[in-house]
Amino acid sequence: MGLEEKLPSGFLLSTVEEVAGYARKGSLWPASFGLACCAIEMMSTASGRYDIARFGMEPFRGSPRQADLMIVAGRVSQKMAPVLRQIYDQMAEPKWVLAMGVCASSGGMFNNYAIVQGVDHVVPVDIYLPGCPPRPEMLLNAIIALHEKIAKMPLGANREDAVAAAEQAALSSPTLMESRGLLR
Ligand code: SF4
Repeated sequence: MGLEEKLPSGFLLSTVEEVAGYARKGSLWPASFGLACCAIEMMSTASGRYDIARFGMEPFRGSPRQADLMIVAGRVSQKMAPVLRQIYDQMAEPKWVLAMGVCASSGGMFNNYAIVQGVDHVVPVDIYLPGCPPRPEMLLNAIIALHEKIAKMPLGANREDAVAAAEQAALSSPTLMESRGLLR
């Protein structure tokens, strides 16, 4: 039996972290940012019968300063990587990254020098979504999973430490090309 059951009705117990997580997960605004074919699935998720508005996420923002979710929809070329990083740096804190599709997550079938072999070498990724292309239902499922993650995220310095550690681990990991021996 919890303490809540001994209290008269009308009382709600929580922590500041839980309240902040609840508010944050329900107020995500994605940046308008599509790179390749996966972006078509992202656009259909944002419109039509998939109704991303039920999560309050329908206003895809044209300015990164008004966005806190980057959906990397498509392969990232080496030339595009610094631009992607600049957009990420300009986004409002706290911010999250969803790698949509196999190309964004690992380079996918584009195992060559022109494509970044995983966008986690450029920005810290919070959630990976497999598939080529992932259907809108899969993107919605990943967004719901991300919501759960956001709801449990630590606040303040703890969050900054977690982001810095994830970024450092991603940037120092070998590229898929370097670790190809493991895949043979
Ligand atoms: S995962 Fe498939 S659909 Fe998505 S960008 Fe790559 S090739 Fe296109």
